[in-house]
Amino acid sequence: MEHTQPGYITMLIIDGKKVSLDLKNELKASVDTCKAITGKVPGLTLIIVGDDQASQAYVRNKANTCKEIGMISSVIEMPAETTQKDLLETIHALNNDPAVHGILVQQPLPEQIDEFAVTLAIDPSKDVDGFHPENLGRLVMGHLDKCFISCTPYGILELLGRCNIETSGRHCVVVGRSNIVGKPMANLMLQKLEAANCTVTICHSATRNIAFHTRQADILIAAIGKAGFITADMVKPGAVVIDVGMNRIEDPSAKSGSRLVGDVDYEGVSGVASAMTPVPGGVGPMTIAMLMKNTLQSFQRINGL
Ligand code: NAP
Repeated sequence: MEHTQPGYITMLIIDGKKVSLDLKNELKASVDTCKAITGKVPGLTLIIVGDDQASQAYVRNKANTCKEIGMISSVIEMPAETTQKDLLETIHALNNDPAVHGILVQQPLPEQIDEFAVTLAIDPSKDVDGFHPENLGRLVMGHLDKCFISCTPYGILELLGRCNIETSGRHCVVVGRSNIVGKPMANLMLQKLEAANCTVTICHSATRNIAFHTRQADILIAAIGKAGFITADMVKPGAVVIDVGMNRIEDPSAKSGSRLVGDVDYEGVSGVASAMTPVPGGVGPMTIAMLMKNTLQSFQRINGL
């Protein structure tokens, strides 16, 4: 989709919703093929601890997407007072269950549970979220054939590739250094891959003069968690801007009283960028699609396909 600016630039709106639909159709066909060959289908188990409504909505969405593409999903709901021991025992049982190809523990977890201990407990070969240090380590070292890449960065790589964004040799600036988005994203863009192979800069909350760095970016990826943080004056004309942020802000004109916005000031930056992801409808749908892709990949590896 193109969006013509009053000035001089025609901006490409990177449509994550459409790309993720194409991808899900391809995955559905692959699941059918797997079923025809093995008589089995990939299975993803989602664990949710507590009754956080946003987490429940995310888990429902993931489970429904599994069904859409013909995979099996099961949801294990555990009460908010679950002990770490009980959660780890549940994970160990799933690690040993041959019908389970992917395990995802929805975050955040209640405070009595150590999230890192949970990440370590998941068998890396079923860690379809790509959070286990073995998977992150393989990503850093470029051993991508046997690893799972964290779904949001993986989805962004897929978007860049499918939208024919030129990346090789270009400067990618990632704002944010979390373990689930910023760090894997920066490492992925560094890899010798077709949709990556960039020179990479990482910025964070202690970076001095962030705008100086972001203005150097040919590809700017914002994963900060602050609504509208990236403004037009922080973007080089013609840059490709990927907005990971998902921030709920008050909006009295909306039926629910709030709406979802990204980390990028969409209106302002769309007058400067050459291509940009919207929020919603950009990175978000790709994250779920890549979770499905990772689960399928796990099934294929386990079954030698
Ligand atoms: P996070 O763990 O809170 O990390 C935020 C990062 O932004 C941190 O590295 C932090 O720096 C940096 N930061 C915060 N304030 C900053 C500032 N003023 N200047 C520069 N850097 C700053 O968040 P996350 O999990 O990475 O998620 C980031 C955003 O993406 C959130 O809005 C989240 O909801 C969204 N998200 C979306 C998807 C999706 O599928 N679309 C998936 C995951 C996350 P320090 O390390 O120095 O604190």
